[in-house]
Amino acid sequence: MDSKRKPEVVTEHTCLLGESPVWNASNKKILWVDILQCEIHQYSILYNKHIVFRLDQMVGAIALNESEGIIAALQNGFAKINIETGAVEMIHNPEAHIINNRFNDGKCDPAGRFWAGSMPVSGNDYSGNLYVLDKDLSVSVKIKEVGCSNGLSWSPDNKTFYYIDTPTLQVAAYDYDITNASISNRRVVIEIPEVEGFPDGMTIDSEGMLWIAIWNGWKVMRWNPYNGQLLDSISLPVSKITSCTFGGDTMEDLYITSAKTGLSEKELKQQPLAGSLFVIKKCGYKGLNAFRFGQEIKKN
Ligand code: CA
Repeated sequence: MDSKRKPEVVTEHTCLLGESPVWNASNKKILWVDILQCEIHQYSILYNKHIVFRLDQMVGAIALNESEGIIAALQNGFAKINIETGAVEMIHNPEAHIINNRFNDGKCDPAGRFWAGSMPVSGNDYSGNLYVLDKDLSVSVKIKEVGCSNGLSWSPDNKTFYYIDTPTLQVAAYDYDITNASISNRRVVIEIPEVEGFPDGMTIDSEGMLWIAIWNGWKVMRWNPYNGQLLDSISLPVSKITSCTFGGDTMEDLYITSAKTGLSEKELKQQPLAGSLFVIKKCGYKGLNAFRFGQEIKKN
């Protein structure tokens, strides 16, 4: 392991299933969720303070909105959450008719829409879908027959959408129209060899390269979506790596979520930090600010 890129834990807390890291540049907080414990976590880098917000249902993914509130994909659909007041306002559940699904990864696009996908809680059927919640709170389906909807990213030029459906072991790219959120021309741009583990959450850096968290893979990997080549890999002391995002004052710190769900007692002894939120400070690459729900299109 490169000693200059040593992962540190942000807090001693460990999640069952940590996910959906989001950096809030305006107040220097890192947010993440524990899907299975129904929790939203916030850690203030300025005050070294960890706050946990508990919900009455699973929370698959969160994103920031323009007024420091949160937009979320909960077990029972999309919701607006105000952590300060505790208010949870349900918006719409596009899968009220699908009992076996829950929401999983989600993120805002460069035009301020919230995309989130679903997955079956049990079984291996392709019953998941990828949805978009538009700024007028209407919901539409973007991709059907998904096995486990996971990582999402948009290229720095806002022209390409990247998507991971975990069981495919692939990253798919689509032409993306920022004006109406349409996606087309699906092609596979990255194939993760099975021996590496399963591609989970994803983020993109300022050079347009994809950072992919590898479930059961003990690492995050940096891939070039233009030629399908592996560029870099950072090892972690735990096996179930779930997602990553850039943050910090200069957007050069890489925050990485992980999980301990499903590990045996023996495995937990071997990886006592499983479920931690890790950070690799000054990782050598720079990320892009997270898009916020309701934001206007930013001109590049
Ligand atoms: Ca995930």
